Amino acid sequence: MVRDIKSLLADELQAQFRDWNQPAYRATQALDWVYGRRVTSWDAMTNLPKVLRDLLRKHYTLQSLALVQLHRAEDGTIKFLWRLDDQSLIESVLIPANPALYGEASDRHTLCVSTQVGCAYGCKFCASGLDGYKRNLRPDEIVEQVLAVERWHLQQTVPAPAADGGVAPAADSAAPALKAASPERLINNLVIMGMGEPLANYENLLTALRILNAPWGGGIGARKITISTSGLAPQIRRLADDPLQFRLAISLHGATDETRNKIMPVNRKFPLSELTLACEYYQKRKERMITLEYILISGVNDGLEQIKPLAALANRLNAKVNLIPYNRVEGLDWVRPSESVQEGFLAALEDQRVVATLRREKGHDIAAACGQLRLQREKVEQAQKKVAAVPAR
Ligand code: SAH
Ligand code: SF4
Repeated sequence: MVRDIKSLLADELQAQFRDWNQPAYRATQALDWVYGRRVTSWDAMTNLPKVLRDLLRKHYTLQSLALVQLHRAEDGTIKFLWRLDDQSLIESVLIPANPALYGEASDRHTLCVSTQVGCAYGCKFCASGLDGYKRNLRPDEIVEQVLAVERWHLQQTVPAPAADGGVAPAADSAAPALKAASPERLINNLVIMGMGEPLANYENLLTALRILNAPWGGGIGARKITISTSGLAPQIRRLADDPLQFRLAISLHGATDETRNKIMPVNRKFPLSELTLACEYYQKRKERMITLEYILISGVNDGLEQIKPLAALANRLNAKVNLIPYNRVEGLDWVRPSESVQEGFLAALEDQRVVATLRREKGHDIAAACGQLRLQREKVEQAQKKVAAVPAR
């Protein structure tokens, strides 16, 4: 299978160039075209000799994501729906600086990226798993989400036509202006919390993150990259042994096996006892604070009986707790608790001396969980196909 150039580490490309009897600086130039200037065609690499461009074209692909739809929320969050080469749809979400999110507050932009098409883990509250699992994303498809958003951002000064029949990514005067950390780089924080279970696509994810972290690639510090997992204990241990210092977030959503089993099938495979040991191992190896994600779902996990076990777990792991009010998903019956229940849950946790935050959102608009835009779009496309399939009389 032909690989995409964005799946290669610098030393692999350098070795390839040596095989082609190319001087070392040519590889540096090619990397600069791909990651510095984010070009989408070989011919744009104008300082590379034509023979070299032809060799690259013959041996590698240089694919980019096609923007299908773009959705802006009042709070400045922007959701991108992309189409891949096999017609699959994935989402990325651009989140302007938000002190309540991951890492310290600063003038920065966080991108939430997907790692799989669909998800096999079937958490009962989540849109990403509703249609089942289709496939893992390749490293280049993960990397390209960052590059495509940065490319889109640069184009904002020059309005572009609508992509692929979708909504035109035109500048919107009502939305807060985006400010890049440097004119070159918009994204300096990554959260691996889009569609899919990242640790189930371990190899591709780690290759992508090495590329996004490298100074010749995305230039995003490992400490600015947060990987979220539903709790794949063996892979958490594996990640703990990786030299890069990624942050880890655990989608906990229940502090007892009874509650977790109800909403997260993965807990039957890796119950809390096993997950806790893996997290402890991670915490010791990395000396990093783990975040426990806790979606508040009315009548499911928002009872005060969760407080004691949740506080015990957070204190044992020296973890902070991130409370997230549930976002409604079309077709699912779960609901978010009232604000007073949310605040009460937070206060009870703080009483137990747990470091906790509550994400206070302006509504269900964009923050609507990842995976939803794709589901809506797929429904529309399936309906269109059905209409097209009706024989004309
Ligand atoms: N599979 C990984 C990462 C992707 S999900 C994981 O489960 O951690 C990213 C986060 O969004 C998880 O914490 C997940 O539980 C949460 N999430 C899923 N559906 C949600 C919803 N409807 N409302 C709020 N958060 C949701
Ligand atoms: Fe998959 Fe995460 Fe959604 Fe669970 S919450 S179905 S693991 S994407």
